[in-house]
This record gives sequence, structure tokens and C-alpha cells, in this order.
Amino acid sequence: MSKEKCNPYENMLAMLDKAAEKLGLEYDDYVGLRYPERELTVSVPVEMDNGKKVIFQGYRIQHSSTRGPCKGGVRYHPSVDLEEVKALAAWMTWKCAVVNIPYGGAKGGVKCEPEKMSENELRRLTRRYTAMILPIIGPEKDIPAPDVNTNAQVMAWMMDTFSMLKGYAVPGVVTGKPVDIGGSLGRAEATGRGVMFTVLNIIDKLKLEANGMSIAVQGFGNVGGVAAMLLAEQGFKIVGISDASCALYKKEGIDVKSAFEFAKNNNRLLKGYEEPEMVEICNNELLCLDVDILIPAALENQITKKNAHDIRAKIIVEAANGPTTNEADEILDKKNILMVPDILANAGGVVVSYFEWVQNEQYFMWDEDYINNKLKNVMDKAFEDVWKIHQENNVSLRMAAYMVALDRVARAKKIRGIFP
Ligand code: GLU
Repeated sequence: MSKEKCNPYENMLAMLDKAAEKLGLEYDDYVGLRYPERELTVSVPVEMDNGKKVIFQGYRIQHSSTRGPCKGGVRYHPSVDLEEVKALAAWMTWKCAVVNIPYGGAKGGVKCEPEKMSENELRRLTRRYTAMILPIIGPEKDIPAPDVNTNAQVMAWMMDTFSMLKGYAVPGVVTGKPVDIGGSLGRAEATGRGVMFTVLNIIDKLKLEANGMSIAVQGFGNVGGVAAMLLAEQGFKIVGISDASCALYKKEGIDVKSAFEFAKNNNRLLKGYEEPEMVEICNNELLCLDVDILIPAALENQITKKNAHDIRAKIIVEAANGPTTNEADEILDKKNILMVPDILANAGGVVVSYFEWVQNEQYFMWDEDYINNKLKNVMDKAFEDVWKIHQENNVSLRMAAYMVALDRVARAKKIRGIFP
């Protein structure tokens, strides 16, 4: 689908300004939050397997450290650029504030095509990128984590590079690591699990029953795939799934567990997965399926003014960061489609990242049930906070989430004051 031209950082600013107005904030009270605190652009030279040198462009943006160390993932994708990473960093600030964990927001990225690179090339890219951003990261400063096309192995290389250059093991420099080197139980599934809790919370408010409700999920990786499996376990019917390779539809519901297993052994792609009565559709058809709940769990700017009129889902739960443009948001609102925003719905990942970091800093290990229960408590509390503002002020859930977040960050900023 062709992407609507839109700058995600401008989108973020427009929301921020509106939320500030609703909260009755003066421009001075939040102007600092319109700018990232620190923007680092790095050139990352990598010797490719063929012996040639390629210079990749990388970024680490720290949007805010007002409420604590900066926190956010690193993505490897051809569409990575400064404006995208700036928006993603700001969304991390709002996300951490909505769920009320003591972090600010950051994001990193490298513009590359990871699926065309070998494991050795990715390792060399990761190590050199880590070395380049090393002056600004660390457990007390800024803690990277996985995001699009990065995973626990990439975090292990980052942790090892940082530790080697420091001269001692520093597990708390990244989260989403393998459990063997200080990763947290439950972290890999945490974003998908958080999405599942959010879906249960919204249908509970609407007095609906999970059994038989239909869901389409765009994106079938660590977020969409896991969310689909956990939601199927709750009785939802997953009728549509998709990834970069194809989109699939089956009216009676897809066996998502078996689809996930298939993708795991097929270069993480769904292409070639078959089930009786299941048909291949295109990505836009998936987004426009007549379902109860649509879960975009891939990239930003997927629901735009071009396709928003055709969306037929009754509820949208944003598992990706920024999948809906502001213009599309307005169209969906007029169509009375209930939108549960990204900064609330997909916060499960960073919540368990926080638990991982706390365990690292204490050299302690919690068990998985404890973590999953704690995650549920945090997600439920955040949902209630947002729902309350949504009801009291008669605003969308997205506006309510921004209001909850901005109120917390602006208050912290005011208390801290300006240095010097
Ligand atoms: N990349 C994830 C997100 O966008 C997780 C970030 C983290 O755990 O720091 O929320």
C-alpha cells in the first residue's frame, strides 16, 4: 500500500498541542517537550561478507529524561530516518508515563535491510552501532531494547559490546536480552500479552464477551503473532493475519499457533502457510475486513486518509507504534470506531523491560507468574486511568492517554525546574 506522505513527528506534535490545550497548560509549561533533549546521528561502517565496506546511517534520540532514564527500542529498517526515530522516541516518553513507570523516552534505529544481511553482518553492524552510541547509553542514562527487526540476540551483542568496552558485565544497559544473560522471563511475549490484557479491558468496558468475537491482526512477529495466539486462547476468533510476505483470511478462524510455528521455521514469514478454506488477500483487504477488532501490529502510517473510510472493524487496538495517521484518526472517530491508542495498548513490552532492568540492578530474578501478574496490574491500572479521563472529559481514548501522560511529565518537569 502506498504510504500517505506524513511526518510522524509533526503528527506527534499536533497531538501534544491538543492535549496541552485540553489540560489547560500554558505553552511555557510544556514547550520543552516539543523538542527531543538530545539527537545523535552516527555513521556505522561495516565490512560486509564480500569484503566491501558499507556505511550505514544510525540514530539514537533521547526525547525526555524528566521522569527517569531514557528508554526505548532500536529498529533496523529501510524506512528509518531522523523524523521517524524522533517520533518514536517521543511516543516512548508518553508510553512510559501512561503506564507510570519511572522512565523517559528514547529510540534508536539503523537504516538497513536486515533480511538481505547475513547474521555476521548484522552482528558487526550491531557492535559498531553500539560503540558509536556508547557515550550516551547506560543503565542510568538510556536503555535500548528490541523493536522492529531486532531481537534478544541483537540485545546480547549490544550488552556484550558495552560490557567489553567498560571492562565488566553491565546487564542493565539493555532489556529484552536472552534470559541466560540477565533477560527477564516473560519479556519476549510481554508486548503481545499487554495487547491481550488491553483487548480484555476494552471489551469488559463495552460489556462484550470474547467468545466468537472476530479479530484481524496485521503483523505476525513478536507482537502480532503472540497477541493473536494469546487472544485465540481467550476464545477470540482470529480470522485474518498478515506479515510482510502475505495476508491470510479464514472466516472460521485460523489456527494461529500452527501458523506461528510455520513462520518460525520459514524465515519468520507466513508465505506458504496453508489451511483448508483459508484464502490469500492483500494487506489493505486485511485492514478493511469486517471484523469486531482490528489490531495493526506492524509499522506506522498503515491506516491513512486513503483507507480509513473503508475500515469496517468496530474497535481498533494499536499494537504497533503510530499505525494511524491523525487524519485517519478523525475519519475513524466520525465513523464511531473505538480506537485504543498505541501508547496504552502496546506498553506491555516496556513494562516488562522495566521489570528486567529492576531485576538487573538488584541482581535478582523473579519468576514468570509474578512478572505476568505484575504486568497485568500495571496494564489494568493504566487502562483505568485513561478510561476515567476519557469518560470525564468526553474525549477519545487517544486524547485521554496523551492527557494522562502529558500531565505526569509536565508536572515532573515543573517540579525539577530548569538547570541552571
Ligand atoms: N520497542 C518497544 C516499544 O516500542 C519496547 C521498548 C522497550 O522495552 O524499551 O515499546
